[in-house]
Amino acid sequence: MSTATIYARISLDATGEGAGVERQERECRELCERSGWEVSEVLVDNSISATSGKLRPAFERLLESKPERIVCWHLDRLVRLTPELERVLELSVDVHTVAGGKLDLSNPAGRAVARTVTAWATYETEQKGERQRSAHEQRRRQGRPFWVRRPFGYNMDGTLRESEAALLRRAYAQVLEGASIAGIARAWREAGVRTTETRNKPEGGEFRPTTVRGLLIHPRNIGKLTRSEGGGVHTELDTYGTWAPLVDEDTFRRVERELTRPGRRQAASTKRTGLLTGLLFCASCDGAMRVFSQTQRGKTYRYYCCTKRCNAWPREWLDEHLSETALALLSSPSFHPASEGEGITEEVHAARAEVERLRGLVGELLEDRREGLLTREQWRTEQAATTAKLAEVEGKLEGLERGRGGLAVDKLDREGMLAWWQDRERGQDGRRELLRHLFGAITCAPRGRGSKAKPDRSLLAFERNGWANDLALRIITPSTGEGDPEGE
Ligand SMILES: [Zn+2]
Repeated sequence: MSTATIYARISLDATGEGAGVERQERECRELCERSGWEVSEVLVDNSISATSGKLRPAFERLLESKPERIVCWHLDRLVRLTPELERVLELSVDVHTVAGGKLDLSNPAGRAVARTVTAWATYETEQKGERQRSAHEQRRRQGRPFWVRRPFGYNMDGTLRESEAALLRRAYAQVLEGASIAGIARAWREAGVRTTETRNKPEGGEFRPTTVRGLLIHPRNIGKLTRSEGGGVHTELDTYGTWAPLVDEDTFRRVERELTRPGRRQAASTKRTGLLTGLLFCASCDGAMRVFSQTQRGKTYRYYCCTKRCNAWPREWLDEHLSETALALLSSPSFHPASEGEGITEEVHAARAEVERLRGLVGELLEDRREGLLTREQWRTEQAATTAKLAEVEGKLEGLERGRGGLAVDKLDREGMLAWWQDRERGQDGRRELLRHLFGAITCAPRGRGSKAKPDRSLLAFERNGWANDLALRIITPSTGEGDPEGE
């Protein structure tokens, strides 16, 4: 039985003729079956183009194997360049194609056909490149847009896409009003604004601060031509394109100055202040650990990290862990701050006593009324007066305990600190102040590389209230921590 070797090659040609490898192989096998040939081997090249001159391993193997005959889908799958054809011709074998029938390469007429087909394929490829080059050149000379990808704010023909252009103009104004690029990017993400479509991502992508920044400083928006320097860097040319400017040049220049000002990025990053910023230090390099973030597959992870990047801890885990430790300390009656009583004025003691007395009185009044010792009228009057007084004294005490009466956090007793901690109005800054007072500097030993490494509370050391470490070890684990909170 005579044999045939099937050769197939992937093609991304969008000609419609470009059949997938599976279909090429299937139809070649059918041809072999019809003709009564046994398929001795199927060789497939995954290279995209035969014209790039790149080595095609399966093609090389095909030539070496000296097949009895070659079966392929079309001659252009097998060879695209004349030198390759000549190598096939040297084999003196028949080539059978699904799409074009048999090429009898054993006679001069058949070889002439094969050479002509290949020459035309080569010519076509070269023409295509030449046409593209001259079209680009012409458009560049005429100042017409020759964008590979639709820029945000524009249509491919250079007209404005008004919905996007309006967003950009608003962003220019926001930057001049002092808005952060990260804030603008966040607002766009939340509003569902997407980057422009690409072939692989027809739905566009999410906006990142760098994308927004790059968009705002692109000279295209004032109608100027640019030369791409690669890596997203564009040099402004002194020529205007034919497309509509999106923003006036004055606004553009002011925003450009602001966004390229040295220190601008630095200023933005120091705004990312965490609950523990200023309290955390790296055990390896002694450096302060600050918040930084990293985005992977669309998810943003925030870490406390030293500037040498030798030690990183998940921000949420540390914030929660230290918060819970502080709360457990403050809720434990056995915790006595060193300053206990020192800052507690007579006024606070008196107010606390008064609150106790008034709360008791409210209960007594109710009992007296139940036993009929007071008329309904008397009870109402007494009750109203007492609760009003209670509310007043409680308010005063609260103010004193939260330091609004002039007490700093280091002058508070345990209850005062607890009230301080729970006062939402103090916010993150107030809590940080209290944490600093409770723990002092917190040293973090490196916890190992990789996101799989679990945060381990035993790697934390407190400057003050060292015994808090023991407490911290016993505290119920933060729920949102990475991995097993027990850590061991
Ligand atoms: Zn470090």
